[in-house]
This record gives sequence, structure tokens and C-alpha cells, in this order.
Amino acid sequence: MGSGMTVVEPIVIKLAETRLNSDGVQQLADFYGAQGWLTRARRLQPNDSEFLIELAGRACYRSFGVGLNPNVTKVRDNPKDYINNVLEKGDGSILEHSTVTFAFLNVSRVFTHELVRHRAGTAMSQESLRYVRPSDINLWIPPEVESAGKEFAETVQEIKRRYHEIEGRFDWDKMPFEQKKRVTSALRRILPDGIATNIIWTANHRTIRWVIEMRTDPSAEVEIRKVFGKVAEICIRDYPLLYSDFTPAKLPDGTSQYTPKFSKV
Ligand SMILES: Cc1cc2nc3c(=O)[nH]c(=O)nc-3n(C[C@H](O)[C@H](O)[C@H](O)COP(=O)(O)OP(=O)(O)OC[C@H]3O[C@@H](n4cnc5c(N)ncnc54)[C@H](O)[C@@H]3O)c2cc1C
Repeated sequence: MGSGMTVVEPIVIKLAETRLNSDGVQQLADFYGAQGWLTRARRLQPNDSEFLIELAGRACYRSFGVGLNPNVTKVRDNPKDYINNVLEKGDGSILEHSTVTFAFLNVSRVFTHELVRHRAGTAMSQESLRYVRPSDINLWIPPEVESAGKEFAETVQEIKRRYHEIEGRFDWDKMPFEQKKRVTSALRRILPDGIATNIIWTANHRTIRWVIEMRTDPSAEVEIRKVFGKVAEICIRDYPLLYSDFTPAKLPDGTSQYTPKFSKV
């Protein structure tokens, strides 16, 4: 373990998102007789994630154009109107077709414990502190305790010193991996909840909308508000139709609350 406590900032990285298979989309358009729609729609909507959601929704009523379903006498041609109507009606299930994968780095166990409470529509892979023996204790200091920052840092230093002391009582080089894992896991019990760790999180857009709403609310913990404020910025930038109804409002601590017009679609 190094000697100092490193103060770190939570990092949000967008790793992946839904991509269309254009051959498959063409096959589907041929199947429905929706070739005209495909050419027009692709021009209006180059965003794969939003396009897939629209496509899945239109497949429900064959609403790719007038004439494909005798019950349909008019259709919304514009993707913006189409998605807005989906949000307004609360037909959120089609938003589950497209996902985004994020890496949340330098986040605390406080954060990850709150994140994993969101079960619906998520996948996560969290750094194992049973396998990974921390060589340092990195930490983000919340603004609420900045005035006691010195004492905060000293406390972490002390935990680190004691951790190192106990860690030093084991002959790690002679231990089989299985035993190292068990001892590492036992030792982590004295590490602070605030220790910086990493998690990969995939969620569909229905879920992301919900988690942004819940976790940028002023009553949520500051770290998760900070992270989901960044998630909101990314989503509003990259999926402008799906997040068009979100309005940011600055909070006194510098984070923003993102409130949707259509809650929990
Ligand atoms: C400010 C704040 C304070 C909190 N304080 C506490 C606390 O003190 N203690 C505590 O334990 N938790 C607390 N939580 C966590 C909270 O109770 C939820 O567990 C968490 O926000 C996950 O949200 P969700 O239940 O909507 O689940 P998600 O998994 O995000 O699900 C989304 C929606 O899907 C539906 N759904 C999901 N799973 C089911 C299911 N099994 N059955 C039926 N419908 C389902 C529900 O409509 C749900 O709202 C807090 C959360 C916030 C934002």
C-alpha cells in the first residue's frame, strides 16, 4: 500500500450501445412491404438506438405506412412525433429494445450498493474485492464533509495503516490463490464503504430514464446524483428524442436534477 490517500473523482464512460444489423432491417422491411418507410425513416432517423425502438413500436400495429393494416388510416411520419407519442402514452416497453453500457469508475461501495437496487432491465459486473486486493485506498470526498476534509483523510489513513499491518501478517507469496481470495475477502471488511471501485452497468432506455429521475432527485445521495447527472448529459446528447422531455435544474451543490415530463413510462 502506498503512503497517501488519493482523492479521486467518479468517472462515467459510455462503452457501448445498440447497433442495427442493416441486412436484417432490410429483410424485415421486405417482409412487411415497408421498403418506402425504411428509406424515408432512415434518412430522418440515423440514430440506431432510437430507430430500433421506433421500428419495434411500428411492428406492433404495422404502422409503417397507410395501407399495411386496414385499421390504420394515418401514421406519424416524423420520428420525433412518434417517440414523443410513445412517451406521452407511457408505452415504455418498446424502450427496452435498446441499451447503453457504461463504466462507472472510482465510485464507492456506497454508490454501487444503491445502483444495484435497480433490478429491472439492468446487467452489472462489479470489481470483486474478494479477488482484487486493494493496493491503495482511493476515495472521493463528498462536499458535505469538505470542511472536515483533514480529519476525514486522517481517518482513512489510519484504516489504511491498520489494514496494511494486518495484511503484513500473512505470507502472501506462499498462499495458494484460493486462500489469498479468502483472506482478501476477510480483510475487506475493515475497508471503508467509500473506497473507490469500478462497475460496468448496462441498462435499457426505459430503465435509464427511471434511474436518472430517481437518482438525480435532491433526496438521493450526492455521489449517485453526480454520476447520473453525467449519464443524463450523455443520454440527452446521444438520444435526443428519447430524452427530449427531461429538464435540468441546478442544485446548490452544483449537481443537476433531471425531471422528465413523462415519469416512469
Ligand atoms: C432517495 C432514495 C432513498 C432511498 N432510501 C432507501 C432506504 O432507506 N432503504 C432501502 O431499502 N431502499 C432505499 N432506496 C431504494 C429504493 O427503495 C429502491 O429499491 C430503488 O430505488 C430501486 O427502485 P425501484 O424499486 O423502482 O426498482 P427498479 O429495479 O429500478 O425497477 C423499476 C420499476 O420496475 C417495477 N419492478 C421492479 N421490480 C419489480 C418487482 N419485483 N415486482 C414488481 N414490480 C417491479 C417497479 O415499478 C419499479 O419501480 C432509496 C432510493 C432513493 C432514490
